[in-house]
Amino acid sequence: MDISTKKIVSIVVAIACLALAVIIMIKTHNSRSSGDIADHIQMLCTNPKCGQSYVLSEKQFKAMISNEAPMSMQTPSFSCPKCKQKTAGIAMKCEKCGNVFLPNYRSPQNLDKCPKCGFSKSHQ
Ligand SMILES: [Zn+2]
Ligand SMILES: [Zn+2]
Repeated sequence: MDISTKKIVSIVVAIACLALAVIIMIKTHNSRSSGDIADHIQMLCTNPKCGQSYVLSEKQFKAMISNEAPMSMQTPSFSCPKCKQKTAGIAMKCEKCGNVFLPNYRSPQNLDKCPKCGFSKSHQ
């Protein structure tokens, strides 16, 4: 395996992990009758001038994925509805402090760890 193949494989793995995380997130929320953000995908714009956080319904999210084909050579990114830049990514909302953050792709074990308070749902 050469370096570029390895890179592509690691990106595919990251995307697969992310998709899995989203599916788990949706399932977890759906299994709870009181889930207030059921089937909503948390998004966050990484543009430092924008930083918009917003939610998409599962339907909107699926439509967006099929439109934008996020299989680029970077972390999946999507168009931000506020600044119109392709800087938005799938984010998570900390259940403890409400901080919206991007999953830590480099460290799958800490994927859902809140950078603000350190809370991690999967570590509960
Ligand atoms: Zn933005
Ligand atoms: Zn937190």
